[in-house]
This record gives sequence, structure tokens and C-alpha cells, in this order.
Amino acid sequence: MDKELLHEVFRREMNDRKIPLSLGKTCPVKCAFCYEKDTGYRTTFDTPLTTQEDWEYILKQIQAYPTGTEHWVVGGNEYMEWTDLFLHPRAMDWLNEFLDTTDKNITLFTVGYTPANEINRLAEKYPGRINFELSVITLGSYRKRLMPHGPTVDQVLKILDGPAVTSANFYSFGPDTMYGDAIKVSQVNNKCLLWMGCLTPLKYIDRDTTMLMRQGKKFLPREAKKIYEANLPNSTMIQTESDITAFLNRNKIIKTFDACELEKKDAVVMAGNVYKVMSLLRKNRARYLYVPNDTLGGDSNCSTLLTFDDVGRRLTNEKRVFLPKVIMEGSSGEEKDISGATFDEFKSRFPNCNFKVLHKVNSKLSNKKLYEKGYLKNYVEDYLGNPLHEKFEAVALPN
Ligand code: SF4
Repeated sequence: MDKELLHEVFRREMNDRKIPLSLGKTCPVKCAFCYEKDTGYRTTFDTPLTTQEDWEYILKQIQAYPTGTEHWVVGGNEYMEWTDLFLHPRAMDWLNEFLDTTDKNITLFTVGYTPANEINRLAEKYPGRINFELSVITLGSYRKRLMPHGPTVDQVLKILDGPAVTSANFYSFGPDTMYGDAIKVSQVNNKCLLWMGCLTPLKYIDRDTTMLMRQGKKFLPREAKKIYEANLPNSTMIQTESDITAFLNRNKIIKTFDACELEKKDAVVMAGNVYKVMSLLRKNRARYLYVPNDTLGGDSNCSTLLTFDDVGRRLTNEKRVFLPKVIMEGSSGEEKDISGATFDEFKSRFPNCNFKVLHKVNSKLSNKKLYEKGYLKNYVEDYLGNPLHEKFEAVALPN
């Protein structure tokens, strides 16, 4: 890749507050659940292994950005492929240098390749500047199968045993999986946030892993209740179930759509999660145009992750269609979906249809609500504890 293009890719990622390091190859960890297994839905550039010279360029650019409260994320993931960057031999040195020579905060995601002593020492030296999201995934018997090349359980527990980790995520895969991990993690670190839920199978996830993810979903209520009863000192959140999030925020969703002043005949695009809320609680308020998440496929069911291609496939001869703003907020500042397709391109494909944007249905709102109602307590008390959730789960999606 020539230098100019490489720098252009770096700059695009940095615009989105990403620190675009690269391993120069696909991730060698080969997790069975990896959402980067198929990046065919978006344009990515094959960036080579980051060199010292690249790093100097990146750091200089970042230093020129104004100080802000936002966190810089280690790794590009819009124009580059996501990998575990702590496999890069210089990653820790550069992390150190970033903290030393900038006034900015940093977020890092890893399945556990950060050397335990070093990262905990850095967290002590720069309190409050490192947001460390540790992808534990599972410490139980499914670990070998899901992460054949992942770090050992001992390595993960060693990292957890210190001040560095801000949040640890792990999932339900069946009886005593998520619960067992919550207890183990909390015993070693009673301060980090426990971030739990299910993994959603997408179309390129293999059959066995898909079945395991679905088994996890089936056991989620049981696992969550057991953790709730254990009353752990850590904060506990469930954030990966878009249906559950939609149900917990149903009043806000209804109110937001009501405020959009739609006519009964208006066609409004939505994915399954919002469709279920609206058709259960606001039947016939408008024409709900259910759009499956075909681009990601599998069991995905989330309006935020719809693409223009998904919408295009469902259009017949509509004259006017309302689109939620979230679809075109795939990249900062530009009207693009998660695959990088622009709203203008999409509109030009359907010259006889007038597209209206529902600006109130935006990602600022959905992210806010995701966090507000994302606690395990909300799930157990307000979802499982509310008999209406059974009716909600039974809502059938149109063919
Ligand atoms: S470590 Fe992360 S990027 Fe690498 S295969 Fe696993 S989930 Fe994917």
C-alpha cells in the first residue's frame, strides 16, 4: 500500500478517535464467535504491520487534536480490520508513550494479551485515563472450543487481579456459564463492571457456535437471576440483547415515534426489535415496514445495524418512506450506514420514492437508553418480572 493511501486510512480512523495500529494480517486468535470473520459487508484496507515510522506519524497527528473528554480507541475498525492489537510486539511501548506524551484518554479492548504486571502498573501511574475492556468471553469449559488460541484462564485472572480492568465481558452459553464467570471474576476483582449477555449469531458463524450462542440465550434468564441473587459488589450490566433493550425502553420508543407525527399510511422502516414493540403496543399507528438485518444475517435484530441494502431489498413501489436516523450514523459526521454506503447513493437507486428521515430516532438516543436501562437489575425486575415480556417474545415477525 502506498504511503499516501496508508496515511489517508490512518487519518480517517483518527477522525473517529481510533488509534489505527495494525498487525498486518487477519487476527491470529481465530475465535469462533469473531464478528470480523467476514468483513465483506464493508470496505477495509489491508494495512501492513505498523512500523515505528507509522507510529510516529500517528502520534504526531493525535497530539495535534484538541484535548477532549472522549477516549481514543486502540485499533481502527471502520476502514481496517479489527484484531487483538496487544499481539503487536510494540503495542505496550506505544501505549506507554501515548499516555506519557498526550493529555488524552484511551480505551483498549483485548482478549487478554496485555502483560498483566505492566498494564496494572500503567493503570496506577495514569489513574482514570485508561478504559480497559477485557473480553473474558468465558472462563469455563467452552473456552477451548470458542478461543482455541486465546490466552489461558490464569493469564486472564492475573490481569483482572489489579486496578487496570474497567469492565470484563463474558456471556451465557448454557447452565452455570455466565453465573460461574461472574462469581470467579468478582472474587478476583470486585470493582470492575461485569458486562454480560449473549452473543448473537451472524450468518458467517459456524453451525456449532451458532447453536451454542442460542443455548446461551435460552439460559440467560436463569443465569441472570442467579447472579442477581448473588448480590455481587460489582456493577452488573446486560447489553447485548437488542430485543430486551427495546422492551425496556418501550415507552421512550413509543413516545419518540408519536412525536414524529406519522400518518397511518406512512411506511416506517424498522428492524425486528422495534417492530415487536410497535406492533404489540401501538398497532396500526403507521405502516411498519419490517426490514430484516440481512447484511449481518443470523439472529441479528437491531435497527441500528440495518444497512441501505437491507432496506432496498424490502422496498416495492412505496412513494414515501420514513427512515430512522440511526441507519445513516454508521460513521461520524457522514450519512453512511455500517457498510459505508451513503444515503445519497441509496436515494439515487429509488428516484420515485421520497425518503424522509426521522431525526428523533438517532444513535445518541439509542446509546443513552442502552446504558440507562442496561443493568442486570432492569433485566431481572422489569423484563423477566413483567408478564408482558412473554407476549413481547411471542410477537411474530412478518415474512
Ligand atoms: S481476538 Fe478479537 S479480533 Fe481476534 S479472532 Fe478473537 S474476537 Fe476476533
